[in-house]
Amino acid sequence: MANRLKDDLVTAGQYGREPQRTVSSYSQLDPDKGVTRPTGTEANKKIRDFCVKSMVAAGLTVKIDRIGNIYGRKEGSKVSDGIVMCGSHLDSVVNGGQFDGALGVFSSIEAVRRLTEEHFENERPIEVVVFTGEEGSAFGFSLLGSAVLAGKIETDDALMQKNINGQKLKDALEAIGYLGDFEKQLNTVDCFIETHVEQGPVLYNENISIGVVENIVGYAWVTVTITGESNHAGTTPMKMRKDALVAAAEIVTAVNRNANDFADTQGSGLVGTIGKLVVFPNGINIVPGKVELCIDIRDGFEKNLLMMRKKICTFMKELESRCGVIVDIQMSPINTPAHLSPDVVQAIEGSTKQFGLSLKRMNSGAGHDAQNMATKVKTGMIFVPSVKGISHAPLEWTTWDDIENGVAVLTQTIKTLSKLDRN
Ligand SMILES: [Zn+2]
Repeated sequence: MANRLKDDLVTAGQYGREPQRTVSSYSQLDPDKGVTRPTGTEANKKIRDFCVKSMVAAGLTVKIDRIGNIYGRKEGSKVSDGIVMCGSHLDSVVNGGQFDGALGVFSSIEAVRRLTEEHFENERPIEVVVFTGEEGSAFGFSLLGSAVLAGKIETDDALMQKNINGQKLKDALEAIGYLGDFEKQLNTVDCFIETHVEQGPVLYNENISIGVVENIVGYAWVTVTITGESNHAGTTPMKMRKDALVAAAEIVTAVNRNANDFADTQGSGLVGTIGKLVVFPNGINIVPGKVELCIDIRDGFEKNLLMMRKKICTFMKELESRCGVIVDIQMSPINTPAHLSPDVVQAIEGSTKQFGLSLKRMNSGAGHDAQNMATKVKTGMIFVPSVKGISHAPLEWTTWDDIENGVAVLTQTIKTLSKLDRN
């Protein structure tokens, strides 16, 4: 039975790989060649077609909505509303891994097959969902399918988004045969569960089977321009310089130091990064006159984001007099963290314990469709370990044993949540 899910994932994993070939073990991975299947591509069509075929074979009734989300439905024995929804996405980043997204979709189909074989009577309907355009690798807008469902963006506006070739999402979906004709209403959904690879090193390093996600982190971005004075590197004495890069260097270390302190003192998973820095004029013999940099701060709680941002901004302003520069600070609106449902978290935790598996409550540092769903329905996420914490790269992998643990926990969680009187 376990091999059935493996077969699905191996078959699905060949789509978007050049040359097309199946990979069923870590040693078969090519470090340079992962899977590439942005929304609307031929590879995206192939994996969608394979998924729909699997859904139909599992006895699910398939429908496509206007944004190309796919739903496979198993009726409930008592009610037609209050759906237990589970799933993820099938698109990928350029040169990504075969399990990111696909794992959550095919595990959900396998869960339904197991329920049917056990003659389990789900009182609520169960729907397996495939969200369109999770990665934002094609249409410049991530978590697109779930954003439409949650009402964050209008369907018509989303369909007008263009890819790099100037093609509208509407036309791209039509070309691959996935432009549906109805609008899904989330008030028919009771809860949502997304199974996903962790995409980080925590579970793998700590040798834990299941991550039970409590929060999906939000982020604060700060764009900073430091203006000093460009001058001759040979003739300008040290005491007379207004070196913008020296000030920037202090900011880089301050962000790193404060994020570390924060994690130590607040017990928070806060992370802070400066990954982008542009130096002007960027010449070997010129004192840098201007630096632009971007600060990325992430945490599961908005108050922590605000606290850290304030600390760094205060520090940056103090640099003005100390380094003789002007620091211009632009703050983007905070992308708020999503808090998942204690009810669903508890159901996942209960299922994990039932199988005697090790678990850890944790935050997700990456964005997921679950964060949009969480704004409207009770939502939970099941994480399985990523080998060496690698993700969005060809060497992304999860062991078959860990995948089996994930689907077992998912199946049991669906059972629990599909009962009307679980409370
Ligand atoms: Zn994903």
